[in-house]
Amino acid sequence: MTTTTTRLPADPKTIAEMIPVRQAEMKARKTPRCPLKHGRMVARTLERQTYEVMWCGVWYDCADPRCSTSTTYPSRELAAYHGEAYFTGSGYEKWDGAAWQPITDEQAGREFDARKTERERREAEMRAAARKPRRRHAA
Ligand SMILES: [Zn+2]
Repeated sequence: MTTTTTRLPADPKTIAEMIPVRQAEMKARKTPRCPLKHGRMVARTLERQTYEVMWCGVWYDCADPRCSTSTTYPSRELAAYHGEAYFTGSGYEKWDGAAWQPITDEQAGREFDARKTERERREAEMRAAARKPRRRHAA
């Protein structure tokens, strides 16, 4: 296991500190639409969420009671933790270990493509591993 030495930005310390941050994030971005064409989704009530759930980002649920589709906009804190680009609502930025730096849409697009490629590689690896009989490794 590797240890990261990158300094992370300061997180909001409490739910009370985080609520205005998440409200500002909701205002800055478009409300997502249900991919099953049920229209605009509804933001989950912030006051009912745990710190950990809210730390991950802003959560939305489909407004159609027959649909269980949910989605999240990852938080800035989560993006920094994973070393990923963060969408502000009007552009992208990335935490460089000391400060948020703006990056171009093209840079962000290349990062998302690289992540997608890596995810597909891992999924293919898992499918291949599931087909093979398991072997025990000597310690
Ligand atoms: Zn829906």
